[in-house]
Amino acid sequence: MKNVYLIAAFLLGYTTSAFAQYKGLDVVKVADSQQLYENENIHIPNIDGYKTLKCDFHTHSIFSDGTIMPEERVWEGNRRGLDAIAITEHIEYRPHSSFIKADHNESYKIAKGVEKNANIIVILGAEITRDKPLGHLNALFLKDANALNVEDPLIAIDNALEQGAFIMWNHPGWPNDTSTIYKVHQELIKQKKIHGVELVNGFEFYPIAFKFCKDHNLTYMGNTDIHGVYNQTYRTDKQYGPMTIVFARERSVEGIKEALFAQRSVVKFGDMLIGSESNLRALVKACLPYKIKSIKGNEAIMEINNKSTLSFYLQLDSKIISILEYGYIEFKVRLDDKIKFTNTFITDNSQLEINITELK
Ligand SMILES: [Zn+2]
Ligand SMILES: [Zn+2]
Repeated sequence: MKNVYLIAAFLLGYTTSAFAQYKGLDVVKVADSQQLYENENIHIPNIDGYKTLKCDFHTHSIFSDGTIMPEERVWEGNRRGLDAIAITEHIEYRPHSSFIKADHNESYKIAKGVEKNANIIVILGAEITRDKPLGHLNALFLKDANALNVEDPLIAIDNALEQGAFIMWNHPGWPNDTSTIYKVHQELIKQKKIHGVELVNGFEFYPIAFKFCKDHNLTYMGNTDIHGVYNQTYRTDKQYGPMTIVFARERSVEGIKEALFAQRSVVKFGDMLIGSESNLRALVKACLPYKIKSIKGNEAIMEINNKSTLSFYLQLDSKIISILEYGYIEFKVRLDDKIKFTNTFITDNSQLEINITELK
């Protein structure tokens, strides 16, 4: 008996007292992994008239070629601080199907079961999976993923569209390292059957697809396409997984869907922010409220407060000024200056610029 008390005392001392407690004489409870896990805690303020939502529209579980259960994927999303996650199993590639017997909606249903407790919106999606030229496409906001299990992928797309789905062209530069836009994509876009492009997938960025997205008014998307355990795939010290930041009228499936169809999104890839000029401008203005403190002739003292955990790198003449999370800076500018936000990309080789006079 004495030994038991020694062990209990050791556990209580070894873990911090906040995480260890007696549950009676026979059980000493120590911290569980969720209490110890450090959340990503990314904060991005709302923009004018819209809620800013952090989303991942491309994830897999053991029901296709992933390695974890769908409800764990949702809890990972919760720890990442996401507002929404889409479960997008491959329709055609299910290497575990000899021991997992289920239809194409089952994974979503399991994930949906923890939606409320995890406080994250779960979206039913599916990945239509073919070799190039077509490649892979995610259908999001489905009602029944089984309808996509047909031989002809173009019919699968039509069946998804009949359910009101948003179609995203996935990882255009994978697997052969060229982001070729084939005739089939051009045709689908002309018919308004592709609505968004994944400019960022996991650790990859496809600059060529940028112009394509811009020219055809498609939605900018960036997702993890996670198959394994998130915490083993991405380091937690700031090298977080990519996400699609969505500006939605409301925090709901319908709100997110409306925002995606209206191209209100920005991709976060490490410290890079990728999007259309108007979306990036709105995001930067919400994150970095500026104030001209004083003006003398053509010179002014300006202050910027970072209201987010995002980092921004500003170029003024040849100087680079960084404003890290919740940072504050004060600096001298000429009124005819322009500030370039060097980590925000509006095309593959141009960054967001704002005139000082616009900020007054
Ligand atoms: Zn894929
Ligand atoms: Zn995938």
